[in-house]
Amino acid sequence: MIYADQAATTKMSDAAAECMCSLIREAWGNPSSLYAHGQRAKEVLEQARQDVASVIGAEPKEIIFTSGGSEADNQAILSAAALGRKAGKTHIISTAFEHHAVLHTLKKLEKEGFTVTLLDVHENGLVRPEEVEAAIRDDTCLVTVMYANNEIGTIQPIREIGAVCREKNVLFHTDAVQAVGHIPVNVQEDQIDLLSASAHKFHGPKGVGFLYARKGIRLTNLIEGGAQERGKRAGTENVPGIAAMAAALREANAGMARNAAHMTAMRDRLIEGLSGIPHAALNGDRDHRLPGNVNFCFEGIEGESLLLLLDDRGICASSGSACTSGSLDPSHVLLAIGRVHDVAHGSLRLSIGEDITADQVEEIIRAVSEVVQYLRGFSPIWRDLTAGKKAFIL
Ligand SMILES: *Cc1c(COP(=O)(O)O)cnc(C)c1O
Repeated sequence: MIYADQAATTKMSDAAAECMCSLIREAWGNPSSLYAHGQRAKEVLEQARQDVASVIGAEPKEIIFTSGGSEADNQAILSAAALGRKAGKTHIISTAFEHHAVLHTLKKLEKEGFTVTLLDVHENGLVRPEEVEAAIRDDTCLVTVMYANNEIGTIQPIREIGAVCREKNVLFHTDAVQAVGHIPVNVQEDQIDLLSASAHKFHGPKGVGFLYARKGIRLTNLIEGGAQERGKRAGTENVPGIAAMAAALREANAGMARNAAHMTAMRDRLIEGLSGIPHAALNGDRDHRLPGNVNFCFEGIEGESLLLLLDDRGICASSGSACTSGSLDPSHVLLAIGRVHDVAHGSLRLSIGEDITADQVEEIIRAVSEVVQYLRGFSPIWRDLTAGKKAFIL
């Protein structure tokens, strides 16, 4: 099997899995208990907090552990909105190609009286910092722009956006789920106020993540109850999962430069090979993209059929995000960068990992080329295109 769907989830690293298994047995005490066995779990928890904080340039007390990226996104945005409401500021700026954990939270806030401006991400999938600046109003309480897009892999000019927000005194949140553990992220240098991350996107366990909130920012609880996580996230902590997340992040950070260099070379070969297919186009900026992300549209085919036939050949890929698969609507991300419905339907996302080999890359190029040609063989849209009854777009 060739696993090329790392943006959906990753396999736990051996270090993370071993950490989790041993702690399930050894540190099962409640970190809120005062006796030694509880305090051992507390030490594990606080060590993990320190490790996670140091990787992103934060302080341990600025880290809240959550159940994953979605929860962190919800808590960050709802907290900033609550602070805004108090100050009479109810305008929020974001983009049309955010993850649904962000977009659906913004929809909810709109129903509660907030106004949301969604910035254009242009055909290259990049937000322009000067457009963020121009969109900021006197009543803007939050700018939320993802660090790297989960479908097309584009890396946003986060540092420039952070500088604009800091200068204008507006809170800045970034969904960094696809970035943390893959590319360097530093909340000080990037001037980020709130950041979301998820362990299962960097070889940690599922159901664990964290929210960074710069000190002084008052968070709103999503879950009420005990005083865990400085009273901001009730519930007994998932100590083994949190420690495994920290182990995975340390490992990802230590190997980042080497892994990124290899993945970038493999990605570039994939882009080169797939560009040889007629009437195909890369989605998202060629250069400002994650080391492991390749996303193409092929005219005249259905992405779903392509995925099923690739699965027959042992290749795991995706047509966009795992969250929307099963729905027949084309990806909101591809529509946001201006792909028309017909073209957006024929999309393929390959998100590769550090263990991908050059042989596997050639196998993917061969398989995709053959399957696309095969599917076009009995596609009515393709027949119309080649007969000149319809104009090619790509
Ligand atoms: C996966 C993902 C999420 C959701 O994270 P979970 O831990 O699965 O809740 C949010 N944002 C982005 C960009 C993602 O890729």
